[in-house]
Amino acid sequence: MSVTFFVEQTPSGYQVTCECGELKSNMFNNVEHAYSELNDNRFNYLCGNHMCDVLYAFVDVQYVANLDVNVSNINARRLLGTLGFDTEDLSGSSEGDDFVGRVLLALALEPEDEGVPIVEQQGFVDCGRPHGYLQARLGELQTLGEYAFNNSLQIHWG
Ligand SMILES: [Zn+2]
Repeated sequence: MSVTFFVEQTPSGYQVTCECGELKSNMFNNVEHAYSELNDNRFNYLCGNHMCDVLYAFVDVQYVANLDVNVSNINARRLLGTLGFDTEDLSGSSEGDDFVGRVLLALALEPEDEGVPIVEQQGFVDCGRPHGYLQARLGELQTLGEYAFNNSLQIHWG
């Protein structure tokens, strides 16, 4: 029950790693080379952790930056509304420049987020929202948007 704002980045490299991440190969630029390493040396990636004895090592895709912004559905609806996007459908995409423009406008116009207290009602907990939450998330979305703009990428959410 959450929404992630992200950009589709080109992988910066590939690494063979055991499930827990303790044992890692060198970084490969070519995914085929990473799979060759995995297939040829699979048993070198047994770190002793029980989980890693059961789950095989795998090829982990690396990116330059992890700029994903993950929020609950309720907060996603609030953010999308603030940015002037559709709030019914919690998935969509936008060009980087348009997105950054909306974020900067929201940061300029939105009053300081007072937050929402945590409420428990009939066993259901509404986790609320801390003071300044909206501005903090908008700041992260600005970073994401600027990255997208500078790299000619689209922002996606869903
Ligand atoms: Zn491990």
